[in-house]
Amino acid sequence: MINCLLCSKQIKLEVGWNLDWLFEQEQYCCHKCLANFEKLSGLLCKVCSKESVSDICEDCASRDHFLDSNKSIYRYNDFAKEYMKKYKFQGDYVIGAIFKNELKKQLAGNKATVIPIPVSDTRKIERGFNQTTGMLKQSNIKYEEILARAHSEKQSKKTKKERLEAKQVFYLSNNSVINHLEVILFDDIYTTGSTLNLAAQILKEAGVKKVTALTIFR
Ligand SMILES: [Zn+2]
Ligand SMILES: [Zn+2]
Repeated sequence: MINCLLCSKQIKLEVGWNLDWLFEQEQYCCHKCLANFEKLSGLLCKVCSKESVSDICEDCASRDHFLDSNKSIYRYNDFAKEYMKKYKFQGDYVIGAIFKNELKKQLAGNKATVIPIPVSDTRKIERGFNQTTGMLKQSNIKYEEILARAHSEKQSKKTKKERLEAKQVFYLSNNSVINHLEVILFDDIYTTGSTLNLAAQILKEAGVKKVTALTIFR
């Protein structure tokens, strides 16, 4: 029997009309917990996945971006915040696996190189792992660690204005040869988009033609 990684209750296998079940044997999270993650739906900005009244939200219409677009999956609601606290700050590494099926679905048929947003070495030592590679690793998604990150103050301690004016913190890791035309950056949360945009800038300057992002929360 399997227990839900979030609430520890036993996961009931519901065999029904949904044949996907046969292919999704590995379940890490019960339906009840999974239902607390709200999928972003309705009209979303085509560029950044923000819930918007138009195709392109005001933020995106008024700025030049290195990042071509961002796709987010779930709303960063209170449940998601609790989840991130457990995963990222309390170091509950195994719960990084719960988005496996969703990530596989999102990246099905994808030919672009997946590059996780790195944390600085200092942060990695502090936390014991990088939350983005942790999710990809546990989801069996292939990725390349081409980007590295210099240590800087925590994003969460900065104001929105400071985040928007952020200085470059990324660089290409040792001897990285960029021969990819298309890259998908992977990160846990899309907040202002400035982190992803800085990473996209480095890649574009190194010759990558298209840089999009996939993020779990928005
Ligand atoms: Zn549960
Ligand atoms: Zn937008």
